[in-house]
Amino acid sequence: MQTKQALLRSIPKVDDVANHERVLELMMISSRQVIMDAIRKVIDQRRNEILTLTASVDVSIDTETAEIKGKSIDIDVEAIVEDVIQAVYKLNEMSLRRVINATGVILHTNLGRASLYSGIKESLWEIAENYSTLEFNIATGKRGSRYDHVEEILTKLTGAEAAMVVNNNAAAVLLILSTLGKGKDVIVSRGELVEIGGAFRIPEIMVQSGANLVEVGTTNKTHLYDYERAIINGETGAFLKVHTSNYRILGFTEEVSLSELATLGRTHDIPVIHDLGSGALIDFSKFGIEGEMTVHESVASGADIICFSGDKLLGGPQAGIIIGKKHWIEQMKLNPLTRAFRIDKLTLAALEATLRLYFDTDKVISQIPLLEMMTMPLEIIRERATHLRDLLSDQNLVDHICLEEGASQVGGGSMPLQELPTVLVKINPVGLSVKQLETHLRQSQMPIIVRIQKDHILLDVRTINERDFEYISNTIKQILRNKEV
Ligand SMILES: *Cc1c(COP(=O)(O)O)cnc(C)c1O
Repeated sequence: MQTKQALLRSIPKVDDVANHERVLELMMISSRQVIMDAIRKVIDQRRNEILTLTASVDVSIDTETAEIKGKSIDIDVEAIVEDVIQAVYKLNEMSLRRVINATGVILHTNLGRASLYSGIKESLWEIAENYSTLEFNIATGKRGSRYDHVEEILTKLTGAEAAMVVNNNAAAVLLILSTLGKGKDVIVSRGELVEIGGAFRIPEIMVQSGANLVEVGTTNKTHLYDYERAIINGETGAFLKVHTSNYRILGFTEEVSLSELATLGRTHDIPVIHDLGSGALIDFSKFGIEGEMTVHESVASGADIICFSGDKLLGGPQAGIIIGKKHWIEQMKLNPLTRAFRIDKLTLAALEATLRLYFDTDKVISQIPLLEMMTMPLEIIRERATHLRDLLSDQNLVDHICLEEGASQVGGGSMPLQELPTVLVKINPVGLSVKQLETHLRQSQMPIIVRIQKDHILLDVRTINERDFEYISNTIKQILRNKEV
């Protein structure tokens, strides 16, 4: 029997831990300051544990381990060193880090929406690491505009007259409404008063912009005459058409097409704004994915101003792209909000590099990950799923593993009804619950985010890069082998 005091005295000293060979090795990856802080923290934790657990009683210690009411406190120097190493790793770890998306939701909002084509990383890093022509015109030696870098590409790709870019599409909508609609009426169909995730709602954006929202029609039916009757000479600033990207109204419905609205707008000299939301630059119907108007079609329908996201169906970085009539784009560039919404140089570099890929419409599909995932043939998905299943198959570890037909989703509030047929790897773990396996995967060194369905874990290979298969299977096997711990 020893007293609490004796136990506290036997905790290794800070210097003993600091001079341990494994801790000395840590100096290669971390500063002395960080390591010393971690050592003190771990030792303090041990001390506090002993103090709370042994409040008033004597404790018996079995040489180096305090056993109190079945709970053990390991005060061996090796155990403390191990905790210090873990703590230092944790401190050095980025909070924003990569994960593996095994959910099959392609534009997963919480996991960063679109991922970029790896081939653009040099372009991106070149700008990050150096000074650049961000706002400098090489030809004249004078100040240039950051919008010039993508304006020509965007007009070529979409057929629009002019273009600019801001931080995201929410900012684009606000900027447009503020420029065209401030102090005026903006007419919108009641069927299109959308809420996008994160509290972006058309009526509220309208208030922020200083425009006066004039709702017309009903939830399910809006006619051309509804718009026409709402026009007040001198008061109407614009018509706004919003793509209902994240919901559909089905059944007894009617909406005014963009081209009809554009014709009405021209007759009355009222600009038509189209918030396209997703911004597809390729025609997905070629791949059996119907119902998404391309940016090109929106321009051809006669909209005066169109906006869309850089990181939805375009597959680039987060950005808000605004295209349309030069007259309006020039006014927007002068709006003070533009300064507040301005796009960062890294985003701009990523966007320019991504947009350039679209000049080769055949190649772009296999380059931009979003496009590749969206258009991946079912046979390829099945092959990949089979490969992953084979890597995972280990009779002792899984009770049941099989392939199952299912569906992937586009996500990101795009194409809500579109189900993309896929093949899922379905795992039924032995010895631990599905919830426990999910937690371990989520908390593994490179987090793996999976789907849970009843008592199974589902992995959708559509959104997983094949080079991560090895990591996934090793991690799952390791978790299942160590399940007792
Ligand atoms: C997604 C979306 C937005 C907002 O775009 P962000 O890029 O998320 O800012 C605005 N309008 C519509 C119709 C959308 O689908």
